[in-house]
Amino acid sequence: MRYPVLGLTILFTAILLPSMAVAVDFDVETATRGYLDQLQGEERERSDRYFEGGYWLPVWGTLIAVLVDGLFLRFRWSARIRDVAERITKWRWLQPAIYAAPYTIIGTVITLPWTIYTDFFREKAYGFVNQSFGEWAGEQAIGLVIGIIAISIFLMILFAVIRRMPKNWWILGTITTSLLLIFFVLVSPIYIAPIFNDYTEMEDGPLKNDIIAMAQAYDVPADKIYVFNQSKQHDRISANVSGFANTMRISLNDNLLNKGTPEEIKAVMGHELGHYVKGHIWRIILIMSLLLGIGFFLISRLVPKLIAKHGERWGVRSVSDIAALPLFGIVLAIYSLAITPITNSLIRINESEADLFGLQAANEPDGFASIAMKLSAYRKIEPGPIEEIIFFDHPSGETRVRMAMEWKAKNLPD
Ligand SMILES: [Zn+2]
Repeated sequence: MRYPVLGLTILFTAILLPSMAVAVDFDVETATRGYLDQLQGEERERSDRYFEGGYWLPVWGTLIAVLVDGLFLRFRWSARIRDVAERITKWRWLQPAIYAAPYTIIGTVITLPWTIYTDFFREKAYGFVNQSFGEWAGEQAIGLVIGIIAISIFLMILFAVIRRMPKNWWILGTITTSLLLIFFVLVSPIYIAPIFNDYTEMEDGPLKNDIIAMAQAYDVPADKIYVFNQSKQHDRISANVSGFANTMRISLNDNLLNKGTPEEIKAVMGHELGHYVKGHIWRIILIMSLLLGIGFFLISRLVPKLIAKHGERWGVRSVSDIAALPLFGIVLAIYSLAITPITNSLIRINESEADLFGLQAANEPDGFASIAMKLSAYRKIEPGPIEEIIFFDHPSGETRVRMAMEWKAKNLPD
């Protein structure tokens, strides 16, 4: 008779003890609420207002992009730019590259008031910008030059493909664009990022040693970790993984190092290690390529129909005519707006995976929760579930704090 009773006692102890230990010492809900309630009143309203305002910016941005491309067609600017390109060179393969500069510059100039409002004045109004207007405009101009070079190369390749296979160009077009994307991701940490910021080694000290030890536990060498002076541009805490293959690296901005506690910095570093170790850049490139493939397919089916109907009025001859580019722009702009919830969710799933990885790697659940609170200065902290799926490309502060506290409850019972 004693054995079954003993067995039952052991069973009950096994069931009750772990949950009781957690319930007595640590309650996930109370701990989560404790963090979330740190953001209150005017500060919370401001953060909500800033982030919710951002829901509408892509809608207006798309509308403006469609209108501007409409102007290029309606007033035959596109056809005229193509005529000039054809007069400059007889080489058909080069004409799209010549078209790229005036098209990009005119488009940028028309949309400039909108860009200045969204990227400078709106950010300045919320106190995030650390640059004067002149400094900001200078960087925009450099960005424009880099953009024109990239777009020229892209258009030369894409339209060469379209000329060879006017019906099914979207397949090879997607493959070549993806290869080009990989190339830009590969070279950007070495040739583009240093144009805007200085990338240096982290200062020696116990924090650096901790971070290097954490990285080495996952076979990430110390020379893959950089610090960059982003306080030059803005006040936001940020870190990222950039590059591809042997140029892949983790970069922490100086705002994080200056405003974060060692526990918070380690928590962020654990998250970035997650992106690095799990090869999220690969995954993002693959996802973006697939989505772009669908976009190109839509263009290949819709644009010829539009040209058949209105081509004469616009001066656009066929889908392989570079003057058709504004039509590509209109279809892509509407398509990318429509799939925003999908792209946001795919990125958010990666981010959530990196969050969990980071909790395990850094073992700093409270550091992670408190840095999530600091990030909530510019990301609405407690959205509804549908709102988070549609508009959030990172988990909300609430999701992150709760994940950290759940992890803490499971892994640090004392
Ligand atoms: Zn991330």
